[in-house]
Amino acid sequence: MIFEGLAEKLQNTFHKLKGKGKVNEKDVNDAMREVKMALLEADVNFKVVKDFVNKVKARAIGAEVLESLTPGQQIIKIVNEELTELMGSTQSKIAFSSKPPTVIMLVGLQGAGKTTTCGKLAKLIKKQAKRPLLIAADIYRPAAIKQLQVVGGQVDVPVFTMGDKQNPVNIAKAGLEHAINHGNDVVIIDTAGRLHIDDELMGELQSVKESIKPHEILLVVDSMTGQDAVNVAEHFNEKLGIDGVILTKLDGDTRGGAALSVRAVTNKPIKFAALGEKLDDIEVFHPDRMASRILG
Ligand code: GDP
Repeated sequence: MIFEGLAEKLQNTFHKLKGKGKVNEKDVNDAMREVKMALLEADVNFKVVKDFVNKVKARAIGAEVLESLTPGQQIIKIVNEELTELMGSTQSKIAFSSKPPTVIMLVGLQGAGKTTTCGKLAKLIKKQAKRPLLIAADIYRPAAIKQLQVVGGQVDVPVFTMGDKQNPVNIAKAGLEHAINHGNDVVIIDTAGRLHIDDELMGELQSVKESIKPHEILLVVDSMTGQDAVNVAEHFNEKLGIDGVILTKLDGDTRGGAALSVRAVTNKPIKFAALGEKLDDIEVFHPDRMASRILG
């Protein structure tokens, strides 16, 4: 189960609180100390945890809550609402352009799941009666182009490639031209990643951004890397400017640190969550559903 470790701890804490008939300020403080520990162990950003706990406390210690008939329930409701808020409160869809093709650029570090996510996203978009085109602009990683062709074949979406001898700006431009000529109303560009962020990678992504002016730059991060994923997001957002985040490998994430911090730290929405290696394993990210999953 995703976020299993965190969910178990929070559920234990709230189970104890619900068991009490009356709840006083000390009970709230004790419970919130446990929540704080659980969130830190889940690798949630320290400042995010502090703000979160303070917000919940301020609301929970309000007289109406403690004097209500079901104080434990009320506090869980507050935690649920604040967790939802932390992850962005509402779902954020892709903003399709009124002047197609809508250009989506996927960026991220190598291994985050970018290429796989291109296929997943293309499949999802195709279901919305669109005609996506995938563009292979990762010319560095051996086999990246072939991998995108395979993924494209599996979801029955065309893949535009120019091999690995052209630079990514030229590939992106030519791909866009191809889309316009072939009636593709959405293009998804698979860009190069590196093992670490470096100036050369950022410079190249900035050039692609400048030349084709994407409608959406979505950053793909591996949720299992916790705060590292959050740092990557902060960095990409500063250097490149991103419109949203796609969290991958949530199926293997027992902690939840990235999911719970990335929105608060970058102020950019989590748009999609990937939950497995298959090309169907992607969903629109719903903060409220995610909060309910954590609280059981
Ligand atoms: P890229 O280097 O960023 O293009 O990453 P890839 O798309 O090649 O993915 C790297 C590895 O992660 C592959 O083995 C994928 O099957 C795997 N992967 C991608 N997304 C997910 C996911 O949501 N869950 C799991 N469990 N594996 C994933």
